[in-house]
Amino acid sequence: MTANTAEYVGLDVGGTFLKGARIDETGRVLSRLHDPIRKESREALLTQFAGAVKTLEQDVPVAGVGIGLPGIVDIGSGRLRSAPNLAALNGLDLAAEISQRTGRRSFPENDANAAALAEAWLGAGRDAETVLLVTLGTGIGGGLVFHGRIWAGRSGYAGEIGHLQVEPEGVRCGCGSWGCLETIAGIAGWVRRAETAISSRESALRRAGELSPEVIVGAAKDGDAVALEIVDDAARAVGIGVAATLNLLNLERVVIGGGVARAGEFILQRIVAHTRTRTFPHVFEDASFRLAELGADAGVVGAARVAIIGVRTAYA
Ligand SMILES: [Zn+2]
Repeated sequence: MTANTAEYVGLDVGGTFLKGARIDETGRVLSRLHDPIRKESREALLTQFAGAVKTLEQDVPVAGVGIGLPGIVDIGSGRLRSAPNLAALNGLDLAAEISQRTGRRSFPENDANAAALAEAWLGAGRDAETVLLVTLGTGIGGGLVFHGRIWAGRSGYAGEIGHLQVEPEGVRCGCGSWGCLETIAGIAGWVRRAETAISSRESALRRAGELSPEVIVGAAKDGDAVALEIVDDAARAVGIGVAATLNLLNLERVVIGGGVARAGEFILQRIVAHTRTRTFPHVFEDASFRLAELGADAGVVGAARVAIIGVRTAYA
């Protein structure tokens, strides 16, 4: 097998599903897998991951396996840290485990970092040298890619924009701090603010049943004043975090992704407006803002890209 034809497996480990794909070096997806995650035990998870690699390979050994995970992969030890939704794998050296079970070199990576790498490679950041991805979902994820490589920092914790403090007197965050971006612009933040607002004010949201960012954005698009305020609160919080990041790093591209970004230009324009007023004018002009382009594929494509870079680096 020559380097030009090498294929890789990317696994995207979520709280609910395991997604996987076999991908060539151009990023073309050759086969896919999508299964409920078996997180009842460490052994069940590892068996599932190894089985997924075998299924995706289809008798053609891949050159490497990348694994995107909802936690931090400690650069020094290779062990998974801070993975509350995947507690069974906390502290595990996943690269060693998967390599041993599959016979393939394995490269675990934080899922937001992997998604950022995918967008920088083939998506909304492909023409930029420095990229920040912000994923707006249950939590707020982030990843930095400089010149085609993830900037993971000393231990792997870099890029955690969701834990920039945007409200010093704000509510307690799961990380131990207060008023993190995630406490306002994560899904729980949207719901908390909506519930508080409609307890004392008239709004279409009172009749909405279950509150979610989708429902709130829908009401905002219909002109509901309370819903518009909640959308704007979230956009302002993201804008504060992005502005701080741009002033620190003078980046070229900001990509907004994750489920909430399906609100499209409606949310993106508000984030850009709040970023503009808080950023050095020249730094703001240097940066361009895009919605993520790879959608649900970002995780598996990014994980495969992690493996491509890992294998190349190992044999360079
Ligand atoms: Zn936090």
